[in-house]
Amino acid sequence: MELVCPAGNYPSLKAAVDNGADAIFMGLNDDTNARHFAGLNFNTRTLEKAIDYAHRHNRKVFMAINTYPQQESWGRWKNAVDVAASLEVDALIMADISLHEYALQHHPEINRHLSVQGSATNVEALKFYVENFGIKRAVLPRVLSLKQVERLAEKSPMELEVFGFGSLCIMAEGRCHLSSYLTDESPNTCGACSPANAVRWEEKTENNATILETRLNGVLIDKFQPNETTGYPTLCKGRFKVQGHTFHSLEEPTSLNAMDLLPALDAADIKAIKIEGRQRSPAYVAKVTSVWRQAIDRFLRAKQNGTEDSYKADAQWSQTLAELSEGSQTTLGAFHRSWQ
Ligand code: SF4
Repeated sequence: MELVCPAGNYPSLKAAVDNGADAIFMGLNDDTNARHFAGLNFNTRTLEKAIDYAHRHNRKVFMAINTYPQQESWGRWKNAVDVAASLEVDALIMADISLHEYALQHHPEINRHLSVQGSATNVEALKFYVENFGIKRAVLPRVLSLKQVERLAEKSPMELEVFGFGSLCIMAEGRCHLSSYLTDESPNTCGACSPANAVRWEEKTENNATILETRLNGVLIDKFQPNETTGYPTLCKGRFKVQGHTFHSLEEPTSLNAMDLLPALDAADIKAIKIEGRQRSPAYVAKVTSVWRQAIDRFLRAKQNGTEDSYKADAQWSQTLAELSEGSQTTLGAFHRSWQ
């Protein structure tokens, strides 16, 4: 089982490699990938340096080119594929079928993965990508329960990768319009949910206390009391008044942690675990990668000894991950939905 870790810059890439990632995914510093934030990602020179470092340590590099190009900007996406190919990345992570077609025609030697943004949730969709574009692996959206993942894996014509840890993006990925609705920009086409230029933080006095208001393009989406921790504001994790009650009516700010599911995911023949967080710091990447490396290694050792049923995640690992999580809490997310 491969551990696939995020890198938003060269120090994060080093942190992932040095702490045991098998593969690192990253993107260019433009809107061709779904983490397009100022100061983040790689230009051609830093990309070359990063790939060199990873390859010298026998790790793979996956290039995320997973936003949807528009007619007038197609050249930029095509160029991203060409750059990644020229630097000999190990796989391209893409969602849009025109990019899959282009990569297949022009760089058939490079593995192609279906991005989570492609939102493939059934066997017929997976078959389509294999038959038409020879896709090697699909990253499954975080809306599937464990049972659904297992059923899909039984018949999947390609390798499957699932998210193991990180912030949740719960709407049908690649199809969420909440950010576009408020800011005219979304992760799907511009690479950023809640683009920074639309975010405003403002201190206010309310009931004699200093509170912090968060607005997205002028629209109030949350208020934080002095004792509350704040996270990056996305519309899905705002607090709204519904029938007289103000609460996280769409999604709680919490992070996925599927470490306890390693035996079940391995039994389902899941080939890779992905860690979300290209926007996170190198220290975050180092800690999360290190903990997950230890967990996977413990599980694989137990499996080798035929004692995989005895695998248990260390309480200290879960504690470390909880401290790094949104809202300082973790969840199994959709994995544990019993009603699906
Ligand atoms: S609004 Fe929420 S669900 Fe939609 S893309 Fe942003 S983070 Fe994901």
